[in-house]
Amino acid sequence: MIIPKELIDKAKSKMGERAAIIIAEELNLKDFDEKNLKAICNWHEEDTPSLVWNNKNNCFHCFGCSKNYGIIDHYMSKGLTYLEAVEKLFNETGINYKFGERSVKTKREYKYPKYESNPNKNKVEKYLAQRCISKETLDYCDIGEDDNGNIVFNYYDSNDVLTMVKYRPSRKLKKGDTKSWCQKNADTTPLLFNMNRIDPSQPLLICEGEIDCLAAIESGFKNSVSVPFGASDKTWIEENWDFLEQFNKIIIWSDNDEPGIKMKRDVIPRLGEWKCYEVDPPTKIEKNGKIIEINDINEVLYLFGKEKVLEVINNAREMPITNIIDLANVQDFDLQNSEGIYSGFKILDNWIYKFFFGCLNIITGINGGGKSVLVNQMCIAEPLNQGHNIFVFSGELTKPQLKNWLELNFAGRRHIKVEDNHIRKIKPEIRQKMRDWYKDRIFVYDNDKDHTATTILSKMEELARKKGVKVFVIDNLMMVDLECGIDGLWQKQKEFIIKLVNFANKFNVLIHLVAHPRKVEAIRRLTKLDISGSGDITNLAHYVMAIHRVTPKEKEGIPDNKGGYKVEPIQYDCILDLFKNRITGTQDKEMGLYFDLPSYRFWTNLEELDIQYKWDKEKYNEKLPDPRDANKPEFMRGD
Ligand SMILES: [Zn+2]
Repeated sequence: MIIPKELIDKAKSKMGERAAIIIAEELNLKDFDEKNLKAICNWHEEDTPSLVWNNKNNCFHCFGCSKNYGIIDHYMSKGLTYLEAVEKLFNETGINYKFGERSVKTKREYKYPKYESNPNKNKVEKYLAQRCISKETLDYCDIGEDDNGNIVFNYYDSNDVLTMVKYRPSRKLKKGDTKSWCQKNADTTPLLFNMNRIDPSQPLLICEGEIDCLAAIESGFKNSVSVPFGASDKTWIEENWDFLEQFNKIIIWSDNDEPGIKMKRDVIPRLGEWKCYEVDPPTKIEKNGKIIEINDINEVLYLFGKEKVLEVINNAREMPITNIIDLANVQDFDLQNSEGIYSGFKILDNWIYKFFFGCLNIITGINGGGKSVLVNQMCIAEPLNQGHNIFVFSGELTKPQLKNWLELNFAGRRHIKVEDNHIRKIKPEIRQKMRDWYKDRIFVYDNDKDHTATTILSKMEELARKKGVKVFVIDNLMMVDLECGIDGLWQKQKEFIIKLVNFANKFNVLIHLVAHPRKVEAIRRLTKLDISGSGDITNLAHYVMAIHRVTPKEKEGIPDNKGGYKVEPIQYDCILDLFKNRITGTQDKEMGLYFDLPSYRFWTNLEELDIQYKWDKEKYNEKLPDPRDANKPEFMRGD
């Protein structure tokens, strides 16, 4: 449940300075000056008062240690959840609000976990005490112990409903130990640990694990949550989107190792770098002549104490200004470990290795030349199969057409029956399997009235952030409304391409842009110069390629009179030209493609023709017949 911020602010200001008096009395603040609402800080050692009530924000602020403390924090410190604290504040100030849905299990069909905790938690308390986490913090976060002495982490949603239960052994983990597991026979929603005790008007700290979150709370930073399934899972962003959108400031403190650093890099643009802050914790300490590496919050707490943890959090930096980078800090470019998408064609992948994230690829071709088939297969089906979500702006294919072509490609030869030479049939159960597989993963732009670049880019941003989309297909440039007349077109095109390049870089995603060629007199192979618009388009892109449909004449070749050929016949149906490849440098290459009409697939070898996308788990013993053995495959129709 998200309670309107205005209502909470209204309640806080209605209570006004009365809150300061209540807090001062109940916490027994030293040297409390009732007139100026000043006191000795309760959270750090000091002789002169630095804790001052702020009438604008209706909370205490300490100028010594940066602590903020308002009436909601005060209620929560007494064991209330955020929702309970807000309810109490509303009751005290006479604000009406329906807390109707509270504590109600709203998800039908959801298998809610059972609450599990032994009355005594000796093992857990003992183990976590060794890690400097007190019983008080365990009780505050409702940490339990199961019958085998494991730690129980209870995950509550923002309605205070127990929605997920996780376990972890209450001892130092050995190699090969199961790190953590969820309650059996219960569902798992990727919530954030401790999210029901979070005040959205205060900065939020996101940690990588529950024990780090406990360490931050132990140190006095209570507005802390932990991600549910470690650094590499990001499903929590979408699940908790509305919750996360409430914060003005989010501090990320992930582990000081590769997955942790990657988590930061992936998560910050999605949460919005204008509100994200990075921490700079100590990474090494010398003890008894030995250097110890420091990896996480709990280790900082253990080795340096609470004050250091708070200091690191309070000194979190805003993200650096974009577009400026200290060259020394530029990431090393490492081909092997850079992420991206394989094209699915072995030959092409040999040249480019893969389409790297952060890049823009331009595809051109004459209408009817196979552009749409190539885009569907290489830019949608392949990335989907490699586990990524996709955005499609398709200005030319209608949505049902796109769906039909894609499903033929997903299905493949084995699952398509051709009737009357052109009607292709896929069994309903196969269709269902495919749809379950791609459901909620391909997002098609759906606003026929607005094709402006501004709107398309803002949709793209929303999808990159909220849904973690990694591949963006814009088919095609001509269908994008650049909001200008014919005069400024080239300039606007250039600006749009620059925006795409920046977008790819910022969100570390891949963009495929289809661009039409200039008018050509007759059907022929294109060159890079044929792409319509200014040359800036191809200059700015990382990859440029064209697809050409082989003409019947080219297939025949030109015979000489000696039984040979002046011009060799081309056996393929299409040629893919790679004009530009700024990453590995291999370019000006051509690749022949066969086209399979029933499945709308391009292929260069039989494995590619028969690729089994991941919806299809069957094992097939029989090989597909080679279409080259019989009659040549039919030509493609339309585009
Ligand atoms: Zn203080």
